[in-house]
Formats: sequence, C-alpha cells, structure tokens
Amino acid sequence: MKLLQDKVLSEGIVLSEQVLKVDSFLNHQMDPVLMKEVGKEFARLFQAEGITKVLTIESSGIAPAIMASLELEVPMIFARKQKSLTLREDIYVEKVYSFTKEQSNDVTVSKKFLFPNDRVLIIDDFLAHGEAALGLARIAEQAGASVAGIGIVIEKSFQSGAKRIQDAGYRVESLVRIASLAGGKVTFMTEETVH
Ligand code: 5GP
Repeated sequence: MKLLQDKVLSEGIVLSEQVLKVDSFLNHQMDPVLMKEVGKEFARLFQAEGITKVLTIESSGIAPAIMASLELEVPMIFARKQKSLTLREDIYVEKVYSFTKEQSNDVTVSKKFLFPNDRVLIIDDFLAHGEAALGLARIAEQAGASVAGIGIVIEKSFQSGAKRIQDAGYRVESLVRIASLAGGKVTFMTEETVH
C-alpha cells in the first residue's frame, strides 16, 4: 500500500535493526485518514471471506481493526492484556509473549462475544514473530470459530511471524512488508505490490 509505505518512509523512526517506531500515526498519535484507508484495504482483501467479527489486541491494533470492521460492517473485539489471571469460566485466555515489552501477558476475550459460527478476521499493527496473531487465532479456535485470515499493517518480513502464520495454515495479508531495518534505514520487500 503506497500511502502507507510513504508514511513509513517519511515518519518511521528506526530504533534498532529489529524495531521501528511509528508513534506519529499508529502507536501513539493516530492518523485517522490513513487508518480509514487501511480499513478499506483490509475490507477489500477479505471481502469474499464472509467475515462476521474483527479481532485484535489492545491497544495499537484497535485503530486499524475498528476501521476494517466499519468497512465490513461487523463488530470488532479487542482482546485485553492482563498480567496474570486466576482461572475464570467466562473468558477465553491465551498466553502471549510481547516482542516489545519482553514479557508474557494473559490475553483474554469474553465468551459473550465469540461463537462457533463466527468467521474471524484478525488484525494487528505489527508482525514480528507472530506471537500476538497466533495467540488471537488460538482464542478464536477455543471459541470454535474459524479464522478467515490475519491482516497486518506493518510486517517485518525478516522476522519469523509471516512464516509461522503460514505454516499454521492461516492466510496473512500485510499492507507493507519491510525487508530490513539495517543501517537505520527502512527497506521494503522488492516484490511489494503497490495499490
Ligand atoms: P509479534 O507478536 O508478532 O512477535 O509482535 C507483534 C506485536 O509486537 C505487535 O502487536 C506490536 O505491538 C509489537 N511490535 C513488534 N515489533 C514492533 C516494532 O518494530 N515496532 C512497534 N511499534 N511495535 C512492534
């Protein structure tokens, strides 16, 4: 997605060879006009999938997920991150290791909101090693729902997430794919299709 590539190039800050900071449009301040286009693109990519729910994780997944759900006209659910939980009957729980925080969280969704007849589109802001996306997929599957695919705003293709998701049998669609952050510079995958 050309618009998003341009934004990453003009405003992204390469913190290290592993981490990109995009706090001016996605992770702190948010760009609603860009998020609207992101939502439209996810809706276009997954329009044939009969999506009934969009599922993301707090907090940075919420903006792209709500825009996708608005376009698809389905509810959006954000999973909550909690430190550690006592066993509860009314929620689905999965452990997810956070790439940026370097700690595990219990990620939860109320059983009130996901059902076996749901067809779920998972959305997240970044894809690194796939922990968050795969944790959300496990939650959908605990509910007996089916996962239609995983939509990612910014994929770091030099990390293992995309391969792990594909190996697990899920479709992954990333709006921009970064080949490298070496030398303090963002380099996109060369086969990037620009919409
Ligand atoms: P994963 O679960 O795929 O290992 O990592 C994805 C999660 O970690 C995302 O939800 C995102 O919040 C965070 N993350 C991973 N890499 C980056 C990065 O380079 N920049 C930012 N801002 N967040 C990242």
